[in-house]
Amino acid sequence: VIRFEDVNKWFGTFHVLQNISLSVKSGEKIVICGPSGSGKSTVIRCVNQLETHQMGRILVNGREVHEDMKGLEQVRAEIGMVFQSFNLYPHLSVVENLTLAQIWVHKRPRKEAEERAHHFLKRVHIEEQARKFPGQLSGGQQQRVAIARALCANPQIMLFDEPTSALDPEMIKEVLDVMVELAEDGMTMVCVTHEMAFARKVANRVIFMDQGQIVEEASPEEFFNAPKTDRARLFLSQVL
Ligand code: ATP
Ligand code: MG
Repeated sequence: VIRFEDVNKWFGTFHVLQNISLSVKSGEKIVICGPSGSGKSTVIRCVNQLETHQMGRILVNGREVHEDMKGLEQVRAEIGMVFQSFNLYPHLSVVENLTLAQIWVHKRPRKEAEERAHHFLKRVHIEEQARKFPGQLSGGQQQRVAIARALCANPQIMLFDEPTSALDPEMIKEVLDVMVELAEDGMTMVCVTHEMAFARKVANRVIFMDQGQIVEEASPEEFFNAPKTDRARLFLSQVL
């Protein structure tokens, strides 16, 4: 459902993505890891063209995506995205955060949107917080609201960019548990994360990036037990 063919991207003169090729099949779970600045977020953001690439092709569901394509909104609607910062609207209640796009973008009737919101709040185990405001929730709860909000759009693919790295340790697990459940339900997932236990548990493949390149692509067992490069070994010694 996602395919990168020799994708290159520059920020000015800085060659941030160098010949990135990868493909993600329906139902697969991919973990992307690597040092800070290696281009992980940029890869994720290119999928729905929050960043544009200059060379190569990116296909989502067989369609080539680029910044001025027709139907980019449609492609974006098929892709849910969760960031490190939760990006909730602070002046709206939890349930309003979940219904806003449904009502205004997807044109769902309010009642249906609210039912959907409650369905997904239940799924991330915070239905009882529906009437609160984001500021009244813990970081872990806010991130689960952000996941529920993404799910309300009925995405075929979920992209996660370090969803737990802003969280206190005791809240990381509740977010990862929700992600594991999503994985078990068959969602196609691309996750940038340094949570290696999560990678071992759910990833079909681990992609290790360094300096704008994919340096290793392997099963979690291979990657953790026998990394092929010194760069990956060094990285693992720092995060494990
Ligand atoms: P981290 O683990 O810190 O999140 P990352 O692997 O996600 O890092 P990216 O955010 O993809 O890295 O950034 C890759 C490189 O591109 C970094 O060197 C960063 O400074 C640079 N970069 C990112 N966004 C821009 C931008 N808008 N303009 C210029 N350079 C940028
Ligand atoms: Mg990043």
